[in-house]
Amino acid sequence: MMSSSLVVPVIDVQSNNFKELWPAIVLAFKTSSFIALDTELSGLGARKALLAESIEDRYKAICHAARTRSILSLGLACYKKLEGKADSTYLVQVYNLTLLCAEEYVIEPQSVQFLVQHGFDFNKQYAQGVPYDKGNDKGGEPQGVNMRTLFVELLRANKPLVLHNGLIDMIFLYQCFYAHLPEKLGTFTADLSQMFPAGIYDTKYATEYELRFTASYLEYAYKKCKLDNSRSIKTAQDRPHVFLEFCNYTGRLQSYVDYRPCIDSHSSDGPLNICIQFSAYGWCPSGSRCPMSHDTDLIIRQDEKSKEDKRKKRKRRKKKKAAKEEEEEEEDGPPQDKKAHVEDMDEDGEEKEEQKEDEKVHGKFAAHDEEMPSSETPAAESHSDPDKNESDAPQTHDLTPDATNKSPKANERKVEGGTHRAGFDAFMTGYIFAFASIRNAEGSDSWIPACANKLYLSGKSVPLHIAKSTFSKSSRAHMTKMEHVWRKQFPKADGNA
Ligand SMILES: [Zn+2]
Repeated sequence: MMSSSLVVPVIDVQSNNFKELWPAIVLAFKTSSFIALDTELSGLGARKALLAESIEDRYKAICHAARTRSILSLGLACYKKLEGKADSTYLVQVYNLTLLCAEEYVIEPQSVQFLVQHGFDFNKQYAQGVPYDKGNDKGGEPQGVNMRTLFVELLRANKPLVLHNGLIDMIFLYQCFYAHLPEKLGTFTADLSQMFPAGIYDTKYATEYELRFTASYLEYAYKKCKLDNSRSIKTAQDRPHVFLEFCNYTGRLQSYVDYRPCIDSHSSDGPLNICIQFSAYGWCPSGSRCPMSHDTDLIIRQDEKSKEDKRKKRKRRKKKKAAKEEEEEEEDGPPQDKKAHVEDMDEDGEEKEEQKEDEKVHGKFAAHDEEMPSSETPAAESHSDPDKNESDAPQTHDLTPDATNKSPKANERKVEGGTHRAGFDAFMTGYIFAFASIRNAEGSDSWIPACANKLYLSGKSVPLHIAKSTFSKSSRAHMTKMEHVWRKQFPKADGNA
C-alpha cells in the first residue's frame, strides 16, 4: 500500500491578528487560480425542511436558518497554480477565521455538542472572534478592515469559487457578509452568477458526476483523489499530477500557523468490519461509540476491491453468456443492451446511491468525518509501517525546520482538537477541484472541470444551476453592492468612456 502523509499549515485568523493578516489574505485572493471555501454554522433548523422535495421550499428553509443562525468560522484555501513547473503544481495558503456574529442568533444544542466534541473553542470565539453584522450594509458603503469588506475583496478578486455541497454555505455567506437574502430562489441564483462571474464549483457534484467515485462525502472524495494521484505518480503514468507547495512561514506569522498532519492509516488487510452507514455517508449516528470501523482509507480500499470483484464477475458472466449464445444462436435484442447499461450504473454507485442522505445536513453537526483516521492512528504506528519505505510522499512541501521537528505527539493532539475544521475542509475541497481539473484537462483545453455553476442538490439527479434566467430579476441590495464592488476596482470606468 502506498501512502502520502502531508502536513498542512493552517493560519489561524482572529480579531487580534485580523488587521495584520489582511494584506496577506487579500494578496492570496488576488494571486490565486481558484479559492476553496467552507463554513461552520451555529445550526440549520429543522432538518426535514432542508431536504424538502421542492427546491424553492428548500431555499426558504435554508434562508430561515441563515437569518436566525450564524457562521462561526470560515475556512479559505487559496490555490495558486505555479507556472513553469511540471504537472499541476499549486502554492496553497489556508486560513481559518474564527468569527462572532454581532447580532443575536440561535445556537442549537446539538451543534454546540458536536463542535465542542471536535475541539471548537467557544471561549476563544467569544473573546477573539472577528465580529460581523448580517444583512444589508448599515449606512453607506462598507469600509475599513472587517468581514464584510473582506467578502467584497473576495468578489473583486473574481476567481472561481469552490465548495463541497455548497448551497447552504452560499446562502449563509450571502446573508452574513453581503445582503438580506432575496425572497425568490431565482433572484438568489441570478445575484450569485453576477457576484462570481468566474464560476462557482461544487466538488460534491464533481465527485458524483465527473469523478464518479463510490461515495462523495468530503473526506472520502479527498482521500480517493489523493490516492489516485499518488498511484498515477508511482506507475509513472503519462498524465499530469497534482503537487502542492506551502509557504515558508517565518517570524510572527509562524506563531499563527497550526500544522495539521493528514496521515493515511495503514490498517492491515484483515477482515474488514466497516460501518456501512459511515462508509456511505461519512457520518454515523453512533459516532465515536460505533464498534465498526470509520476508517476512510479502509473504506476506499474495500470499495475498490468490491468494484474489481464485480468487474471480474461481470466478465465471467459475459463469457458464459457469449458461449451460451453461440450455442443457441439466439439474440435477445434491446433488453440485453439495457441490462448492460444498468450493470454499468451499478458499478458506479449502487447501494450507496439508493438511500440518499444529505452529508451537510447530518454532517455539519452529526458525525461528518467524526473520526479522521489520522486522529485514531498514532503517528508512531504509521511510521513503523513496513510498507513505508516504498511510499514516499508525492506531495512536495516546504516547511520550516522547526515545524517539521515538532513531535508527532503534539501534532496528534491538535488533530484530535480539530480546531481548524473549516480551514482544513476548505483545503480538502480545493484538492478535489485541482484533481478534477487535471482529469478534465486530458480531454479539453481548459484546466477547469466541466461542472461550472452547478450546485449539488441532495436527493436530486439534477443540480441547481447558478444563472440569471430571462425571468428573474436581480435584487436591489445586490445591484447597489455590485456598483460598489466594481467601481473601486476600476476607478476610471465611470469617468471618460
Ligand atoms: Zn458507525
